[in-house]
Amino acid sequence: MIIHLEDFKKILLDIADSIEENVDYLTELDAEIGDGDHGANMSKGFKRIKQSLIKSETKDIGEMLIISGKVLLNEIGGAMGPLYGGGFVKAGMSLKGKSSLDKNDIYTLFKNMLESVKSLGGAKVGDKTMVDTLEPFVLRYGEVINSMEMKEAFSAALSDAEKGMLTTKDLISRIGRSSRLLERSRGHIDVGAASSYIILESFYSSIV
Ligand code: ADP
Ligand code: MG
Repeated sequence: MIIHLEDFKKILLDIADSIEENVDYLTELDAEIGDGDHGANMSKGFKRIKQSLIKSETKDIGEMLIISGKVLLNEIGGAMGPLYGGGFVKAGMSLKGKSSLDKNDIYTLFKNMLESVKSLGGAKVGDKTMVDTLEPFVLRYGEVINSMEMKEAFSAALSDAEKGMLTTKDLISRIGRSSRLLERSRGHIDVGAASSYIILESFYSSIV
């Protein structure tokens, strides 16, 4: 199975729509233990990504991700601008020149995104962040990639990503704004873990 250029563009545009559908959910989650801006930040960023991608004529999937990452770096406030933005840019650089992606390229994409988030933000699994969604996804995908087709591997990895996202509910936040709440941060899903899951879930649903 191969994801071609136009399919990949559609995947990114669908992610923007999925974020839009979940704006209120993300706002509510961030309001519980943060400052409530995550829904608005993500909505603004992904709307601009959509505009930039529709205008862009690039035939390079890596470039599409770099364009998207730069939009996020320039447009999103809060912690997520640099984290998602840097992640998209690094993922794009790792796929530069590609006009289609196979299952190994999908691994490269998410592995590089995770590495960027971890090296910029310094979070580890268990700190109650987006890393709790992304890392289980990448680990499981890497484990099953040789024995499964892309969509099947993605599905297995997505189920670990969901479990990881749900673990954040019982964790105490150790990094970012909500870490100031200490014990009070327990009992709420981390909003970045939730938005990362929405992105992965949407990506999966759009693989044809
Ligand atoms: P802010 O906290 O500045 O208001 P957002 O509300 O957009 O930013 O995003 C909050 C999310 O960012 C958190 O839920 C968490 O998942 C993620 N986050 C914050 N700091 C880090 C970090 N250092 N590493 C990884 N993720 C982080
Ligand atoms: Mg916030």
